[in-house]
Amino acid sequence: MNKRQPPDEKEEWYKFECPKCGEEDEVPGFVIDEFAMGKNLKPGELPGVACPDCNAKMKFKYTFEDNPY
Ligand SMILES: [Zn+2]
Repeated sequence: MNKRQPPDEKEEWYKFECPKCGEEDEVPGFVIDEFAMGKNLKPGELPGVACPDCNAKMKFKYTFEDNPY
């Protein structure tokens, strides 16, 4: 049997938490890149992410990697 190895490509995700209502949101790295585009952010600085629930500015918690498979 010919088993093929999946490519070792992991997506980076950003975990956010809303300080107002406690809602958590996970945003993939490419979306963060799109948010950051044209915003003149310093290196390492993250663009603001609004809570999908109450629209407050969410607090960044940590990044993690997820396998798309
Ligand atoms: Zn909220």
